Amino acid sequence: MTSPLALLSPADVPSQALASSAAGQAPLAPLAPLANADQVVPLVQGGFSRWVNLDYAASAPALRAVADQLGSVLPLYASVHRGASYASEACTAAYEAARYEVAAFVGARDDDVTIFTRNTTDALNLLASAVPGDVVYLDIEHHANLLPWQARGDRLVPARATLAETLAAVEAELASRPAALLTVTGASNVTGECPPLAQLAAIAHRHGARLAVDGAQLVPHRRVDLRATGADYLAFSGHKVYAPFGAGALIGRRDWLDAAPAYLAGGGAVREVTADGTRWADAPARHEAGTPNVLGALAVATACRVIAALPAGALAAHESALLGRLDAGLAAVGARVLRIWPDAADRVPAVSFTIDGLPAARVAAYLSAEHGIGVRDGRFCAHPLLGRLGCGDGAVRVSLGLGSQADDVGRLIGALAQLRDEGPRWTYGADHRPTPDPRPLPAWANAPSGTAERVTSPCEQ
Ligand code: PLP
Repeated sequence: MTSPLALLSPADVPSQALASSAAGQAPLAPLAPLANADQVVPLVQGGFSRWVNLDYAASAPALRAVADQLGSVLPLYASVHRGASYASEACTAAYEAARYEVAAFVGARDDDVTIFTRNTTDALNLLASAVPGDVVYLDIEHHANLLPWQARGDRLVPARATLAETLAAVEAELASRPAALLTVTGASNVTGECPPLAQLAAIAHRHGARLAVDGAQLVPHRRVDLRATGADYLAFSGHKVYAPFGAGALIGRRDWLDAAPAYLAGGGAVREVTADGTRWADAPARHEAGTPNVLGALAVATACRVIAALPAGALAAHESALLGRLDAGLAAVGARVLRIWPDAADRVPAVSFTIDGLPAARVAAYLSAEHGIGVRDGRFCAHPLLGRLGCGDGAVRVSLGLGSQADDVGRLIGALAQLRDEGPRWTYGADHRPTPDPRPLPAWANAPSGTAERVTSPCEQ
C-alpha cells in the first residue's frame, strides 16, 4: 500500500523545469503537472479554446499529485481520532502527519501549534478570538485580515505613500500605546506587493507585540519561514496552494491559542464533559471541534510537499520571468497598473489594472467570452484599498502560478491589444455579460435546460 504521505521526489517535477532551472534560466512552461492541464472552454463565437487561467490568486487549480493522492486515500477514508478500525488509524496517522508536514513547510518552531481551519478567513477569525489585547492593522488588507479586527474595535493604520513611511507609521502606532499583535498581509491580493516580514516582526517585537501574517497570497509563491522571519502567526488557504479541498491552516505561538475559548464548541475539542461543565483540550484539538476535513488537510500537506520538492528558486524564477513579460505587455497596451508603494521591492505575480474608457467588468467578460481567458474583476474583497487607489468601480486582476506559461501572458496581451484597437466582436449587456451567451455550462454545473444562465453573486466583491 502506498503511504498517503509518501514523499514526492524531484522526479515528480517535469524535467524541463529542472533542466532550465539548473541552467539558471527561468522555465516558462508549467513547473508541475496540474489536474486541469489542457482544459478547454467554449467561446461565444463558437468553438473552444485552451483555458488560459490567469486567476490563481482567487483559487488555484489542483496539483495532479494532490488529486492522485486523495484518490489513493479514498478507499481507506474514515473518521479520525475516534475510531478503532484500521482505516481510522491510518487516516488519523495521515492527518497528524499532515499537521507536522505543514508546520515544517512554514518553518514552525518546535513549540508552535498548527490548527487546520477551513481557509485563511477562518484562521484569522480564530486568531482574532484568541488575541489578549489590541491589534494594529493596515487599511490595505483583504477583508479577511480587516473585518475581524474592525469588529473587535482594533487600531487601523492607514498605509502611507511609501512602504518606508508605512513602516514608520506602524512603528509610531505601536510605540504610542501597547498592542498585543500587529497583523499584515504577506502579499497584497491586489498588487502582489510584499511588505518585509522580518522587518515587521522586529518592529512588532521591539514594542512588545507579536506579528501575524496573512499568508493567503504569499505562501503560494514564496517559502515563508516563521523561525527565520520571526513572524509569530501565519494563516493560509489550501485552495490557493493547489489543494482546493476546503482546508487551510493557522500556525503559530501556542499560549494564546491554548487560553482562548474553543473556536467551535463540540466533540473532539474537550477532555471531559459533565452535566455541569467542560474541561477543554489544548490546541489544536481545542479549535478543531467536529469531524475534521481529513482529505483537505492531506491535500494541503501534499501540495506543500510538491512545492518543497521544486528546485530551490525555481518557482520564484518562473513567476518573476512571467511577471516581467506581463508588466511589459500591460504597459504596451496602455493599462494603468495599480501599486500601493513605489518602494516595495518584492512582488508576487498578481497584477491589477484599469484601461481608460473600459469598465473592468467588460474587459473581464470579453477576455473570457471571446478568448477563453479567466481573470478576476471587481474590488477583490479589499474595498478600502481599491478606494485608496482610486478604483472604486473596480479593476481587472491577472494572477499567475506554477502552471502558468509564456503563452498565457502572450494570449492575454494579444487579446487586450485587440480590444483596444478593434473593440469587442460580440455584444455585451449593461451588466457587461455577453448577450446572447450561447456557451453551455457543463452537465455537472446543472445549467437549467443546458443554457448559459448564470447564478449571480448577491454581493459585489
Ligand atoms: N487574504 C488574502 C490576501 C486573500 O487574497 C484572500 C483571498 O483571496 C484571503 C485572505 C481569504 O482567503 P480565503 O477566501 O481562502 O479565506
